[in-house]
Amino acid sequence: MPRHRGMAATRRGRTTAYGGLVAAAVLIFATPAGAQGTGGANADQPTPQPQLSAPPPGVVVRPVPMLRSWSCKRNCQSSWSATTGSMLRLRGKWLGRTYEVIFQGAAGEADDVAAAPVRRTKKVVNVRVPLGAVSGPIVVSDRDGNQSAASNPAATLSAPVSLKAAGGPPTIEVQTRARRAFFDAARPATVSYVVHGDAATRVVVELVRTSDGAVVTTWDAGQVAAETPQTLSWDGTVGGRLQQEGRYAFRVSAVGTNGVRAVNAQVKKGAVNPAAFRFLRHEFPIRGPHGYGEFAASFGGGRGHQGQDTFAACGTPLVAARGGKVQFKQYHSRAGYYLVIDGARTGVDYTYMHLREPALVDEGDRVRTGQLIGYVGRTGDATACHLHFEMWTAPGWYDGGHAFDPLPSLLAWDKMS
Ligand SMILES: [Zn+2]
Repeated sequence: MPRHRGMAATRRGRTTAYGGLVAAAVLIFATPAGAQGTGGANADQPTPQPQLSAPPPGVVVRPVPMLRSWSCKRNCQSSWSATTGSMLRLRGKWLGRTYEVIFQGAAGEADDVAAAPVRRTKKVVNVRVPLGAVSGPIVVSDRDGNQSAASNPAATLSAPVSLKAAGGPPTIEVQTRARRAFFDAARPATVSYVVHGDAATRVVVELVRTSDGAVVTTWDAGQVAAETPQTLSWDGTVGGRLQQEGRYAFRVSAVGTNGVRAVNAQVKKGAVNPAAFRFLRHEFPIRGPHGYGEFAASFGGGRGHQGQDTFAACGTPLVAARGGKVQFKQYHSRAGYYLVIDGARTGVDYTYMHLREPALVDEGDRVRTGQLIGYVGRTGDATACHLHFEMWTAPGWYDGGHAFDPLPSLLAWDKMS
């Protein structure tokens, strides 16, 4: 396809030479699901580990952050022992794009707490130990979700000391568990808080929309014991209605026995509010460097190309852009291993093609936003590693709906996640 030479692929608004790569674009023709499927899905295959191929030309590869050491610098128990509010200094390489520092605690994500860096350079990140963090490994994560290996040694965190001056009014510490919360994700937006004071106190938690300051919803937590960490989650809906994307913050108020009212501390201008988070309805499906195809690789390109091709190294993790129910998991001579998810509360079907091997979820499975579903591959009719992604209106994929251009959505999700 010499006609396509010199076309460009863009990533985050930057344009890089893409050569003739787009010639690899795969054209998916209207084929009812399964009609020509070869049934090659191998559900019993063990979960593969990501093995990255060389990235396609034009895809900008940023090194994964590397964490070499950490030490406690301020408000410490010792150089290796810290508590809530202690300032840690992390050293390593490629730390300049650090988005959050995750205190992993014990195995599993349930007790993970992430905090924004206070300061970051290429080699150093300063971070305050967030409320709710417990002893365990520390990792740093960049904006694209690339995570460093876990710190060695793990952090030893002791119980927080009371910040309240004896006899003074109650104070409240508040911390969200992560800086971004996705609708229908395995972990909803969660806040931890602790009331420092002498006695149990009545607590009210409000969710405030940052754009207009509106209180979106309120929880009455009742009587809350002092110095006892509490958590509360929000699923993204109010009165059954899914809320708009954007920035929100939890506001925790308490009225002490003496009638003194405390609210979580206001944050200095320019500093990251530990009670704030960004609520998003979708997560970008490729967890790694990628470049958008154009012309035949874009929607409507070539003969009836029904989706957008996005190039990434084979083995790059793929996550569900939106949770929902798996409609199809099959193999097709052109699409390769593919997956169709009926998005929760969208009416939209999301289609992922050319997976390296059968998807990690099965037909009928309930999938969460951001859940790992497979890896970028080049199965079927594809000469380069890429994700072919489609979005279809209700009632669904080759079932009365129609495909629409997913590129604007992909670009918007990419910017935010
Ligand atoms: Zn394609």
